[in-house]
Amino acid sequence: MKFQPMASHFIDGKYVESAGGEEIDVFYPATGEIIARLHAATPAVVEQALQSAMNAQKGWGAMTGTERGRVLRRAADILRARNYELSELETHDTGKPIQETLVADVSAGADALEYFGGLAGSLTGEYIPLSNGDFAFTTPEPLGVCVGIGAWNYPIQIACSKAAPALACGNTMIFKPSETTPLSALKLAEALMEAGAPSGVFNVVQGYGDVGAALVLDQRVAKVSLTGSVPTGRKVYAAAAQGMKHVTMELGGKSPLIVFDDADLEKSVSGAILGNFFSSGQVCSNGTRVFVQRGIKTAFLERLFSRLASAKIGDPMDPDVNFGPLISGRQVEIVKAYIAKGLAEGARLVYGGSQLDGPGFYLQPTVFTDVTDEMTIALEEIFGPVMSVLEFETEEEVVVRANATEFGLAAGVFTKDLVRAHRVAKDFEAGTCYINTYNVSPVEAPFGGSKLSGVGRENSKLALHHYTEMKTVYVSMNELRAPY
Ligand code: NDP
Repeated sequence: MKFQPMASHFIDGKYVESAGGEEIDVFYPATGEIIARLHAATPAVVEQALQSAMNAQKGWGAMTGTERGRVLRRAADILRARNYELSELETHDTGKPIQETLVADVSAGADALEYFGGLAGSLTGEYIPLSNGDFAFTTPEPLGVCVGIGAWNYPIQIACSKAAPALACGNTMIFKPSETTPLSALKLAEALMEAGAPSGVFNVVQGYGDVGAALVLDQRVAKVSLTGSVPTGRKVYAAAAQGMKHVTMELGGKSPLIVFDDADLEKSVSGAILGNFFSSGQVCSNGTRVFVQRGIKTAFLERLFSRLASAKIGDPMDPDVNFGPLISGRQVEIVKAYIAKGLAEGARLVYGGSQLDGPGFYLQPTVFTDVTDEMTIALEEIFGPVMSVLEFETEEEVVVRANATEFGLAAGVFTKDLVRAHRVAKDFEAGTCYINTYNVSPVEAPFGGSKLSGVGRENSKLALHHYTEMKTVYVSMNELRAPY
């Protein structure tokens, strides 16, 4: 098996095996071939990881931010130096084209390590003057042991987005990847250790939901950061509440993307392609409800179809291929069921819609028109390459319809009228909004959702608040009187 790691878990600075744990077969989505076989963590392995993260935290938290930052920045360099090797691994784990993973996965992870490494030395509190020379000061304290739980669409990027701010702030982390894509987090652990992170600062345990649940419920864990679906988010949030733990929830969405008549046609079609078909549609912030104003609809669809016809679907390791398989046969079935529902509820299938013959989990890029707001495909997150096109007439109407969703992860608007663009962005009920672009998430800017799409933010300086808690120290410079 070409991508078999040395062992399933990485704990206390070394690989650890747990042959007693349930087997996890890792498939290459392009062929269905097994590329690695791991074992889920047993309770003993979970305990080992907790002990290791607990033991390491005191020393790591006591280092200066600059020292911790140096480790993170070195790890970023190591990831960048191994970009090809790691992108090849990520392509095999997820099925995403190497054309994407080479520029969007490992490098985004390295950006997170570099950015938070750079900020680590600047973590400071404030001095608060009080009456008669008394004062208070605050210090941002690490939370302790943090648990990261990842989804399968951006495995190494998610691991880095959680580990980098957590470690920068002096916490240690136990990361549980999705069992579908367990490989690259182990490589991040290797890179961090090579960069000088003390043993136990970053640990990886494999497993299904029960392993994640065991970690979330453990009293020694101070914080849980999950990237996953809303149903899992509900469970994890509720479990974390038992211990009053800090949480970050990066969950799903059904985001709107609005194209006004005056929009640049080429740009808006690019936005719709990036916001629906990148990573074969398996992106949380995708703008899958594409509202197109009546006057531009025909031109928009014509251009969209001609550009989709030039998509190159095939072997993800071919550098020319830009559309790969879905993550699993199960995901193909889920998406096909949504396509069937779209047809049954009266939407018009105008592009794609079929599974490709042969091995691998390939589904064509798919476009529905005549979609109405109450159809299932306009209400639920599909997490596959299915775009719903909805028609609208006025700005007032489309903003109400765009916001009529229980999700609030992202939203986008394409128009040349900048005043209107800002007005619409202001009215969007979403955490991450775009004007004349879509689906960018640079580490410098906050990313996250409102409503059911999440709690807290990743990326940016804001993330540091989610991995520290402020301690206040009051200092008296005066006599202290008591009534008796
Ligand atoms: P899931 O919610 O199925 O799983 C997410 C992770 O949680 C997995 O590692 C899973 O393990 C674990 N898990 C499941 N049950 C529990 C539990 N009870 N306690 C603790 N952990 C548990 O999501 P997917 O992996 O299917 O990813 C797709 C979803 O992720 C989509 O909804 C997508 O929108 C969202 N997402 C959000 C992003 C964001 O930044 N907002 C980015 C990327 C994806 P296991 O896999 O073994 O079940």
